[in-house]
Amino acid sequence: MRISDDKAEDAKGVGRQEDDGRTLADRLGWGIAEVLVENDTSAFKRRKTKLPDGTTALRTFRPKFRAALDMLSSGERDGLLAYDLDRTARDPRDLEDLIDVVEQRHIPVQSVTGSLRLANDADITMARVMVAIANKASRDTARRVARKHVELAAEGKWNGGGFRGYGYTRKGMEIIEAEAKVIRDIAAWILGVPSRSLNWIKDELNRLGVPTVTGKPWNARSVRSVVTKPSVAGLRAHRGRIVGPGQWKPILDMDTWERVCATLAGRHRNVDLTLKRWLTGLLHCSQCHREISGAQGNGGPRYWCSTPHGGCGKIAINAAMAEAEVERQVLDLLTRPRVLERLDHISRSEVTDDARRELADDEAQLKQLAGMWARKEMSLGEYREARKIIEDRIKGSRALINASAPRALRRLLAGDVRANWAALTPADKRDVVLTLVPEGYEVLAHDRSRGNPFQPERLRPEHVTTAA
Ligand SMILES: [Zn+2]
Repeated sequence: MRISDDKAEDAKGVGRQEDDGRTLADRLGWGIAEVLVENDTSAFKRRKTKLPDGTTALRTFRPKFRAALDMLSSGERDGLLAYDLDRTARDPRDLEDLIDVVEQRHIPVQSVTGSLRLANDADITMARVMVAIANKASRDTARRVARKHVELAAEGKWNGGGFRGYGYTRKGMEIIEAEAKVIRDIAAWILGVPSRSLNWIKDELNRLGVPTVTGKPWNARSVRSVVTKPSVAGLRAHRGRIVGPGQWKPILDMDTWERVCATLAGRHRNVDLTLKRWLTGLLHCSQCHREISGAQGNGGPRYWCSTPHGGCGKIAINAAMAEAEVERQVLDLLTRPRVLERLDHISRSEVTDDARRELADDEAQLKQLAGMWARKEMSLGEYREARKIIEDRIKGSRALINASAPRALRRLLAGDVRANWAALTPADKRDVVLTLVPEGYEVLAHDRSRGNPFQPERLRPEHVTTAA
């Protein structure tokens, strides 16, 4: 049973649903082993969910429904009695998971209203169409603000509310050219040589008399905020996560916006790292296995297993030489087609695996629907309606895939890898090395018998993932 989120619509209370269910069970001669009641406030929120076959995928958050599937697929329970189809599955994916279990274990499924039937292909087809349409209907009638925002986010529309975003009109998200120019100037100052600080920029804007949205003077925070918010790159964010492209025009191209964000993030995290010592976090002491970080030494900058930081103090290596050597090794790896192939794969997978799987599912389902329509198993109206729902979801998945590949890798792999490497920020270089050599390098002791010259073999990669 499911408690509807719309109480007024839920004429039959849970108690009544249960009574009806028990009556049906008696008539069928079934015993009730367990009653599962699901509260359904997040019927459209998707989360990573473990499926009965052990894989994970994005699904609506329905713990009781998932528990029921697990019990059915493990054989702990041998039948499902639901109130109706709508209480069992409103999302087509949930229904597909149920169908999988039913088909694999030949589980009888019954419902009080008779709307949930999965006994044969015709039943299954009808259930699919009903769920696809119910799914659309419940989306259409959802009027709660939070839900509306999720939908708008998925569709890439501006969600309104609050102060208007700097650079755009409040209604319709048209670009305000004068403000767009300020945003581009800020980006150019941050990415320029020398790279200007937020404080320098706020002083400059105030000196020039450039107005803000609220009329207050610029401060470092407002400068950061106008140039880093995803909307200026034409991206729609929801609760801090980018959910896809917006339907408005970008003020900064994606690449510029990403570099601005990376530069500011790097400054925030560790000033030294963005300037030079990008091997920090990648080197380990061969003697005591601690992380070695950048330090100032007598002979210039070096990486040292520093005693003030709890290290053994025995291992140090010239910073510029070590960086040049790692760079040489990385560029060498990047000439190998197999490594590039693997990197390309990584840059696509990681966060986007689920979206890819979902996309493939949806494309398959679309084909199946077309077949159903061709065989006259559904009307043109039903087909159109069901197709629209799936196509919308496909759009969402594609947007997610495009927006979330690891940034540094994407920039590195677009075109001439060597030239791109040289243009990466130190923080991005570090991310790339971490992808290639996730456990970093062990720094061996200097072999004194061979004199003073730098010994590149002292930098030993711990484990190169992409070599396989
Ligand atoms: Zn050490």
